[in-house]
Amino acid sequence: MLVDAPPRNGAAERPERGRLLVVEDEQKVADALREGLRSEGYDVTVEHTGEAAFFRINTETFELILLDLGLPGRDGLDILQAIREGGVVTPVLILTARDTVGDRVEGLNAGADDYLVKPFAFAELLARVQAVVRRGRPSDPRQLAVGDLAIEMATRHVTRDGAPVDLTAKEFDLLAYLARHAHRVVSRDTLVREVWRETSSSTTLNNIIDVHVSRLRRKVDREGLAKLIHTVRGVGFVVREEEP
Ligand code: CA
Repeated sequence: MLVDAPPRNGAAERPERGRLLVVEDEQKVADALREGLRSEGYDVTVEHTGEAAFFRINTETFELILLDLGLPGRDGLDILQAIREGGVVTPVLILTARDTVGDRVEGLNAGADDYLVKPFAFAELLARVQAVVRRGRPSDPRQLAVGDLAIEMATRHVTRDGAPVDLTAKEFDLLAYLARHAHRVVSRDTLVREVWRETSSSTTLNNIIDVHVSRLRRKVDREGLAKLIHTVRGVGFVVREEEP
């Protein structure tokens, strides 16, 4: 399905460029995408069925999902609709052989960020991937802003609506992680791994996360201000401005 061969070297020298999920049932295409994107420095996970992809999307954090529409069982459009209804805002790039206008519109209406019609050149796929991942990243990681919440990474100074917010070290780390991934749902497992630096979750750790999130809410989402910290039931948390 690829019209050119992806490059196969250079992985070792390149910095980590983000976690990608490839959902593709054709083994050859999946392998080519994994190898090509890994050689470009991406951390690539592959799922071959819609069901497995749906579970993974709801339990882990990715910067981008490459989603084939023609999958056995639950197809790509079904998965896309379901994750969007569930509040997952991770960017989705659709890969499809169905190159009719109707299918493309349907995909974009269902919440895709971009699409690519098979067969495609790896170079074109890479350009789309880079564009979507870049769009999802804050331009200046030393400062993070979501609505009227501002986070200065170097001084660990946080303000909300111009007023300073006093946080403990862990509360700051948690808020900064959520804000860095603003508008994307961050799972509990991801917080365990990325903020608490533990390899596996536990009931105790889940309770600790809940305590930190509720303290953050009291300090950040003060009365009279728009709610920024949202719970996505059964999945995790997302920092975003309320829909207008
Ligand atoms: Ca397919």
